[in-house]
Amino acid sequence: MTKVVIFVLMTPPDDKPIVLELQNVTCSYEAGSPAVEGMSFSAQKGDVICLLGPSGCGKTTTLRSIAGFEPVASGEIRLNGAVVSATNRHVPPERRRVGMVFQDYALFPHLTVRDNVGFGLATTTADDRRKRIDEMLSLTGLSALAPRYPHALSGGQQQRTALARALAPQPVLMLLDEPFSNLDPDTTERMRMELLRLLKMTQTTAVLVTHDHKEAFAMADYVAVLNSGKLEQFATPETIYHLPVSPFVAEFVGQADFIPGTIRDAAVLTQLGTFPVPSGYRGGPDVSVMIRPDDVHIRENGDGDGTVESRQFRGSEIIYGIRLGSGDVVHSSEASTRFFPLDAKVELEVMATHTVVFDRKAWTT
Ligand code: ATP
Repeated sequence: MTKVVIFVLMTPPDDKPIVLELQNVTCSYEAGSPAVEGMSFSAQKGDVICLLGPSGCGKTTTLRSIAGFEPVASGEIRLNGAVVSATNRHVPPERRRVGMVFQDYALFPHLTVRDNVGFGLATTTADDRRKRIDEMLSLTGLSALAPRYPHALSGGQQQRTALARALAPQPVLMLLDEPFSNLDPDTTERMRMELLRLLKMTQTTAVLVTHDHKEAFAMADYVAVLNSGKLEQFATPETIYHLPVSPFVAEFVGQADFIPGTIRDAAVLTQLGTFPVPSGYRGGPDVSVMIRPDDVHIRENGDGDGTVESRQFRGSEIIYGIRLGSGDVVHSSEASTRFFPLDAKVELEVMATHTVVFDRKAWTT
């Protein structure tokens, strides 16, 4: 017998000033379908927003339009309440007070770390400039490397230099385009946490582009999931993961299985048990229920109707593939100490934060 337990998800309240607003922004490079279409979202002071999506979905174009490198074909972009991009207005990038960190860091090879960091500070007095550079070098742990040239830095140190340079003029907004793509996995992990610490410590609002959902989840206050130039969902990482608005989002941000269900008498009947119908669901009675591996738990039961079909060891967890009596397969994430042999008969318990259902007729992916 399958057991279904439902928890309720909480979202934190927010009342900070809005720094960035995109309202119905469309950007086109040439005739044909726009690279970005009808994009609307906003960022509050100190928030980290991650633009997440597959290659070619419009992440970089969105970032470049915020920076002022791409004009908007329609819609508006506002920074601290002032319109910086619209059909009849385009504030140039250097007047937006936006800091940028690119994939390749774009450091000046003929300048030392100190001079790279001070590059955008030309208009301040020599004394203020020196103090600000020292502050940034110390904040990013680069003080000892100040006289070095970029070619004599590791990838992580180059990244920190680029970050210090972008933060030095106290930008209104920081834009980061896949800032970790040139680093090895261990350095990436460390740099993510370091970057987040710096952004939060300086209360810098940031928009970061990534195609890696784990990165978005680790860094973001809010994630914007893009699909073919359109915003598919804008929400906290927890909501994106547990309450995706479409099968596309569900699958892009982690492993998801979909089992058929039928709505009857305000309940979703499935082979894994009965789930409550989500409040807000307005579709037809034939649905697909999304199940995440972390919601599914295996119980030893020689008479169970599930069969262990696959096992993937991932260090801290094992992902088991369980074939149900119907032939459908669902996956379960278990602690790596819980061992079930292949072909073992088991039963499943589903402990979901919320039921996620998609109308099967509307699901055309
Ligand atoms: P990736 O993750 O691969 O960098 P992305 O999500 O950042 O992709 P964009 O670079 O914004 O996507 O591209 C969105 C669309 O616009 C794509 O179809 C791309 O081919 C097109 N595009 C991007 N830059 C240009 C350009 N300079 N001229 C014409 N089309 C472009």
